[in-house]
Parts: sequence; structure tokens; C-alpha cells
Amino acid sequence: MDPVTASLEAVLQRHAAVPPRGVVADYIPELACADPDDFAVAMASVHGSVYRAGDHEREFTIQSVSKPFVYALALADLGLDEVAEHVGFEPSGEPFNAISLEPGTGRPANPLINAGAIVTTSLIPGDAAQSFERIRAGLSAFAGRELELNEAVYRSEAATGDRNRALGFLTLSQGVLARPAEEACDIYFRQCSLMVTVADLAVMAGTLARGGVNPLTRTAVVDPEVAKIALSVMATCGMYDRSGEWMVRVGLPAKSGVGGGIAAVLPGEFGLGVYSPPLDAQGNSVRAMAVLQEMSSRLGLHVFAPP
Ligand code: GLN
Repeated sequence: MDPVTASLEAVLQRHAAVPPRGVVADYIPELACADPDDFAVAMASVHGSVYRAGDHEREFTIQSVSKPFVYALALADLGLDEVAEHVGFEPSGEPFNAISLEPGTGRPANPLINAGAIVTTSLIPGDAAQSFERIRAGLSAFAGRELELNEAVYRSEAATGDRNRALGFLTLSQGVLARPAEEACDIYFRQCSLMVTVADLAVMAGTLARGGVNPLTRTAVVDPEVAKIALSVMATCGMYDRSGEWMVRVGLPAKSGVGGGIAAVLPGEFGLGVYSPPLDAQGNSVRAMAVLQEMSSRLGLHVFAPP
């Protein structure tokens, strides 16, 4: 076994020895039936090497890890100035599904809370089908393989998504949502229901690490400037109301999802994907955070670490 894979195996083993704290998301049955013991990690270097350990073949829904990547697609399609008229940049310090808009502008605080993500999704051009296909194809280009929709998760998200629909109508009432609320939410529910593995998350993160060029396919998915902005919002807002502590303790731009995945980026070097379903109160995977924190401190990955 190569030394990188061996060290990924070792970090999983250390954390697998501790019973997982946290609770598997249970707002829909498809997420509640995830195995709490599933545990996997992957690393994708900017040079195109991918290393995997644990249950790395397990597929799970991308959920909120999709948000910075869809934001990058919106920036690529519309430019920063137009996107910024609809969604802001400030950490909200509030839960991911908070009913919250910036005073004065009426924009959601940032694109990584649900309100901001639904607005961002609404900006992707085309009718509903074209817009979702642009998102699916764009996230697939980040991952370097075709991502598919989990129909059952999508249907459950849509059936239970009244709070997200409320955010859709709220942002519509403020004039920042770019399409009808039900339609924007439907595209957003599909976006959250795309299936990924940890290696997909690592390659998606690795694409941001490489300035928007997929390290496997060598395709330029977004411009370096867009990748830089996506990383900036991940660094400031990616872990919701844990974002500040995350930056202090781990120091890597990252994004979590309630499916149990986290994608993290060391710019210029590599992307990481970690998967473990049990979540803390903020909706972040407990074991995935612990793995990333350990890797950051053992390997000195904090982006602001002294040289
Ligand atoms: N589908 C979830 C929601 O919109 C995604 C949230 C998340 O992953 N944090 O509520």
C-alpha cells in the first residue's frame, strides 16, 4: 500500500475506534437509514492522484456540499456583480436553515446557508429542466464523472421541504429570487439529491484547489478567479455557525452536508472528501470534522500556518 493511502487508513482506524457521537439526519427516511458506521476518506492531488480509504465506494447524497460549486457555476454564468445583487458574502452565525435576510439589502447573508443557496440556484440560467441539467453537468465536471439523481431522496426532500419553500417565498418577496419559488426549490431539492462518493468530493475540492481545473480530466470547469471566490466563501461560511471555530482549529476552506459528507481544500495542493453520517447539532458530520482536524494538525495544513 502506498504511504498516502496507509496514512488515510490509519486516521480512519484511530477515529473508528471511538463510537460515533452525533445523530444521523432523520428528516427524511432515506437519510435516516444511512449506516452510522460508514466511514471513508479520499484525497485528490492537484496533479491528478486520488487516494481512498474506508467505505469509499459508498454513495450518498451531496446535500449542502453542492452549494459552493453551484455558486461557482452562477459566478461563471453571470459574473460576481450580478450574483452579488442577489446573495451576500457575510457569515450569518446562524443555523443553515435560518429564516434570515440581510437588513437593508434583503439578500440572504451568503450562498452557503439554505436561503442563499436557493437564491443562487435560482440564478442558473434556463427553464427548470435546463437549469438543473446545467447544475448536474457542472457538478459532474467538478467531479470528473457523471453524477446521478437519487430519485427517492429528491421526492422526500420535495415532500418535506416546506421550510425551504418558505425561504423561497421570503427571498421572492424581497426581489432577490430569480424564478418562481416552487421552481427554484424544486431545482435545489434535485441539486441536493445528486449522488457522490468521497472520491467525488475530493476531486471536486481538488478542482477548486487547482484554480478551477479538474485534476483528473484537466478540463477548466470555472476560471481561477471564480474558484478563488468559491474558496473564500467556504473559508468564511462553509460550516454554518461553526465556521469561525472551524477556521481557527482546522484552517481549511470546507463545506459540509447533512448526508454526512465534507469537502475540504488545501489551495494549490489537494482536495479532501470525508464521509460519516452522524451529525452534530449544526448538521456537520462529527467524525468527518474530527478526521479533518487531525489531518490538519498532524500535517500542518492550516492555510494560515507560519511557513
Ligand atoms: N437538503 C438539505 C436542506 O435543504 C440540505 C441541508 C444541508 O445539507 N445542510 O435542508
